Amino acid sequence: MQWNQKFFKKGELIFSEGDAGTSAYIIDRGRVEIFVSQKNGKNVISTLSNGEIFGEMAIIDGSNRSASAVAVEDTELILVSKDQLIERIKLADPTVSFLVTILLNRVRNSLKNLSKRNMSTGSLPQNAAVNKEEEVAFIEKMKFENELLSALKNDQFTMYLQPIVSIHDESIVGFESLIRWNSPTRGFVRPDLFMGVAEETSLIIPIGQWVIKRTLREFGKVLREVGNTPLFVSINVSGKQLDDPEFFNTLEAALQQENIKAKQVKLEVTESILVEGDIVVNWLMECKKRGLTVALDDFGTGYSSLSYLCKLQFDNIKIDKSFTQSIADEKSYMIVKAIIDMAKGLRVPIIAEGIETVEQYQALRFLGCDFGQGYLYSKPVSVDDAITLLKNYKKTA
Ligand code: C2E
Ligand code: CA
Ligand code: CA
Repeated sequence: MQWNQKFFKKGELIFSEGDAGTSAYIIDRGRVEIFVSQKNGKNVISTLSNGEIFGEMAIIDGSNRSASAVAVEDTELILVSKDQLIERIKLADPTVSFLVTILLNRVRNSLKNLSKRNMSTGSLPQNAAVNKEEEVAFIEKMKFENELLSALKNDQFTMYLQPIVSIHDESIVGFESLIRWNSPTRGFVRPDLFMGVAEETSLIIPIGQWVIKRTLREFGKVLREVGNTPLFVSINVSGKQLDDPEFFNTLEAALQQENIKAKQVKLEVTESILVEGDIVVNWLMECKKRGLTVALDDFGTGYSSLSYLCKLQFDNIKIDKSFTQSIADEKSYMIVKAIIDMAKGLRVPIIAEGIETVEQYQALRFLGCDFGQGYLYSKPVSVDDAITLLKNYKKTA
């Protein structure tokens, strides 16, 4: 059983009316009765089974429990934390939050009347129609989030390193660190399948901190193995991490511990962070002050205007792999050329992602691209393989 699952024996009380709400629950196995106490016994509001959620009301509006819950058979529950639900409400349109609160108040009042007046369940407000598909999707998402939290606690993530080479002489100049999840139940999960979910919630904060610590630990190992080289390591940073008050402290502590210079760390952010407004300006200033470099990732794939390139100073621009991989096409070639020319004008070195063929490499070299990354050189590899790669590269260089 995972740490965020809880077992209740048949007849065991899960929570009582009036308790403070600490989490909601998804039933993984068993059956649960929700009831309100009355003078002459209890009035059962509903009986829930596998895959259903309960206890969410007190979490959403911070009130005490307005009903009790008991396991009517041996039951296993998955805990859904306050953060997981509150985050959704915060992200929702304010009107939606307002309507949810009104709705909850109405349900609560009915429950209170029910306890006081000894009414039958028949007088409870009818449940609003719930779209079954939406409900299943919601519950799956909550379960997935809990799995991610477990993965973090149980050390199921690893960082892989992918070399970044100089287009000029194809020597390795640095690595991008990329997260991998080795799940005991799902197998090897690609980051684009789980980092999106982590980014939707506050989970990205602890995962992001873990990424920083682990990346610098691995990179420290690389530096110790290959000697004092001017290599750098790129770390992907999600927009939400810009608000993390511990971000720079975590980074500085890890740098110190591993004896890595700030200028050897590149933080990769995408255009999506630009919606954060002033926060971005301050965050970039803070990076500069600390000697950290910042790369603008996936350039050209977002919807932002180019005006931010005047206001914000990036140390690198990364051309998205979709452009690199279609460079044989005349239009894509012209776009890549325009991006490189513009970056040259701004004196910002360019890194091209997703180089898979010699032809792509040659085209990028011809256009004056500075750095490259892709399967042509190496897929992302474990730290030990990255060290072997570096040593062999050194021998042949
Ligand atoms: P990204 O930052 O654009 O990372 C580059 C992706 O391109 C990586 O996918 C890499 O494996 C892949 N790639 C590199 N060279 C080639 C190539 O030649 N051909 C092809 N087809 N693909 C190539 P990956 O590792 O699956 O990561 C996907 C995305 O997940 C990343 O895109 C990034 O947005 C996110 N991600 C990965 N690790 C982290 C992390 O530690 N923190 C955050 N916030 N996001 C991460
Ligand atoms: Ca990246
Ligand atoms: Ca990218």
